[in-house]
Amino acid sequence: MNIGILITGTEFATGTKQDTNSTMFAKMAFEHGLDVVFIHICKDDEIDITKNVQFALEFCDILVVSGGLGPTFDDVTREALSTALDEPLVYDEDWLDFLKKDYKSRNVELTQMRKRMALRLSNSKPIPNKFGKAIGFFYEKNNKIVIALPGIPQEAKSMLNYALNALGHRDKIREVKLFRTFGIKESDVSNLVKDYKGTFINVSACGVDVYVQDAVSDQIKSILGKYIYSDDNLEMEEVLGKLLREKKLTIATAESSTGGLIVSRLVNVAGSSDYCLGSVVSYSNQAKMDILGVKQQTLELYGAVSEQTAKEMLLGAKKLTNADIVLCDTGIAGPGGGSEEKPIGLHYIGIMFKNEVKIFKEIYQGERNYTRLYISQYALNLARL
Ligand code: ATP
Ligand code: MG
Repeated sequence: MNIGILITGTEFATGTKQDTNSTMFAKMAFEHGLDVVFIHICKDDEIDITKNVQFALEFCDILVVSGGLGPTFDDVTREALSTALDEPLVYDEDWLDFLKKDYKSRNVELTQMRKRMALRLSNSKPIPNKFGKAIGFFYEKNNKIVIALPGIPQEAKSMLNYALNALGHRDKIREVKLFRTFGIKESDVSNLVKDYKGTFINVSACGVDVYVQDAVSDQIKSILGKYIYSDDNLEMEEVLGKLLREKKLTIATAESSTGGLIVSRLVNVAGSSDYCLGSVVSYSNQAKMDILGVKQQTLELYGAVSEQTAKEMLLGAKKLTNADIVLCDTGIAGPGGGSEEKPIGLHYIGIMFKNEVKIFKEIYQGERNYTRLYISQYALNLARL
């Protein structure tokens, strides 16, 4: 069965606030075995919501509508659903009793506007709200199901969960495995996995995440092999932290372009003081010379963004910290500062393990902070040894 998601809220339709319900609903529905066929956003307008519901029901079996079930003037989803589905609104007597008692106990008047929170479509089934005052409901007609939920994320989540369970496991619960990869291009991953049905990928500065059906996960794991850094939904720094702890190794960084991002990610992990010794953020040439001991001559001859400078940054940080592993980077994150010889995005990323030094050249052209994140991921990946 497939499912559509309709988010109501002028704050989302105007870009004033980020809608988070749709992502949450999509994940829940997907894991429940349903295919999400669309996500729509529309403003708090009764006519707009009515039209969107009618339009949406033409191409989905289940429609989830969130928002607009509260007591305020802009909460008009109930009325819109009533028009769209040609079904009158009725009070849920049990919920109305609950509201009467609740408001009385708090000495607050249960106004006509507030009473609307007990309204649901005639012939619908209630979805109780454990956290708020507005009742939700699901309604079935002509093999179409509409699920109406309040907008508040905490309420919506528990109520959608209730509704999906109440609908029964009409489709098989979907088991999805995530392989997080780094060092392989999206197009190459895509070619390798394209024949496995149900596989999809998500690209970010941290690499290519590959979602696969459980049944074929062993095959895909062997295909992607060494590029996989996590099959457990972990960040690179968490994976690396575990490895360093296991191998009883320490780490330090000497950073330029990343400005401390690598070490910041390392210390994101609780307990990282066991293996992370520290960092030198040497952004200027002067700092590279004064703190890390990079030679003036090296900077003049080769420039700050060079293999030679990277090497001396490593040696300097090694001397300061005596860490087993030292990482470094120097590069041009952009948007300014490039030249024909040294284009924007050019980076040298280095690793020193025990006494062996390796420097890698990488040109990555992205938005400044996207590039910096990518370079930090590149460096952390090197340290997996
Ligand atoms: P209420 O009883 O609070 O009025 P409601 O069903 O009418 O609930 P809304 O008024 O639409 O829901 O939203 C209530 C709160 O929940 C608002 O702060 C709103 O921004 C937030 N919210 C609603 N929809 C979403 C969404 N899709 N993503 C994130 N937050 C949301
Ligand atoms: Mg509201």
